[in-house]
Amino acid sequence: MMTDRELLELLSIEDGSVLDALYKRAYEVKLAEIGRKVSLRGLIEMSNICRKNCYYCGIRRDNGLVPRYMLAAGEIIECALWAHKRQYGSIVIQSGEVVSEEFSAFIENVLREIKELTNDGLGVTLSLGEQPCDYLKRWREAGADRYLLRIETSNPELYRKLHPVDHSFSERVECLKAIKELGFQLGTGVMIGLPGQTLDDLVSDLRFMEKIGVDMIGMGPYIPHDDTPLGKDSALSGDFSARQLTLSLKMIACARILLKDVNIAATTALQALDEKGREKGLLAGANVLMPNITSTAYRKSYQLYKNKPCLEENSDQCRLCLSSRVKSIGEEILWGERGDSPHYKKNLN
Ligand code: SAH
Ligand code: SF4
Repeated sequence: MMTDRELLELLSIEDGSVLDALYKRAYEVKLAEIGRKVSLRGLIEMSNICRKNCYYCGIRRDNGLVPRYMLAAGEIIECALWAHKRQYGSIVIQSGEVVSEEFSAFIENVLREIKELTNDGLGVTLSLGEQPCDYLKRWREAGADRYLLRIETSNPELYRKLHPVDHSFSERVECLKAIKELGFQLGTGVMIGLPGQTLDDLVSDLRFMEKIGVDMIGMGPYIPHDDTPLGKDSALSGDFSARQLTLSLKMIACARILLKDVNIAATTALQALDEKGREKGLLAGANVLMPNITSTAYRKSYQLYKNKPCLEENSDQCRLCLSSRVKSIGEEILWGERGDSPHYKKNLN
């Protein structure tokens, strides 16, 4: 059992050698629970059409500078089959938030096709924002295995400052509970280093994840975007990037030490701050990478934050680049395995 005080102490570490000891401790927990292994999720950025207006996000509804797109069903399925053929093991379908009967039916059909064409051999995570229970149920029945919805921050007051009034913290929590109830592997997470966020908030974030019973964690640094209300006056200085990166790595390490057997992603946002950001994430306790498998043509229009890496690379290049990054730190990719959360599997038995 770790106390809040211990977590706060770990998050407060500044000294380089003490930090290295923290990452090492977390990596040892990861080795004991998971081994020297990394799971892949091919990320499909399905659409940047969004009904929400989160103050921090580059594809928020009111950002008129972004050309909006939505992949056709055939394009999504093609991406999924590409990933399957190359032994990715699982994919994530992510998009802005659209809630409609038409959208719900569209996703259901895409899921059924992917599951059928891969003989249920590909794990599928959805990350489509807050959705009504009946849609979630429909997608679960159509074969979706996991759902990723970040709480963004577990501090309701801070949540209120980051979102317009009609974006409700309590509804988001309810949605997370519904996802769990429906038997999805539940993923959540937060943005790290938000303006106004304290280390105590981050401790509460870890407790929130623990309490809600997460199977997987997707969290990463907040990175300002010029064309958003929150990011318009912030500069991405070297100092700022270094601070955001270190804080994110500390959070990954604490999450690994506290929650032990969950899947934790080294998110792409880490690499926006540091060329070796994702490798550093893995060495601080993460065990999942999410290579982008969206066609290069769309990548520029899906910039949640500035400095997004891999905008020009195609999916084959991303695949090669990642395998060599993983090898460089002495780990091995679990090709062809779905990489289900060990935490989820244990709780099924
Ligand atoms: N619309 C869905 C999925 C796409 S957004 C949803 O909101 O759940 C995916 C994640 O991107 C969000 O949960 C948020 O944490 C992250 N994000 C958005 N803007 C960001 C920024 N400026 N910096 C870092 N992460 C950001
Ligand atoms: Fe839409 Fe998600 Fe961005 Fe919020 S974070 S504006 S819901 S895409």
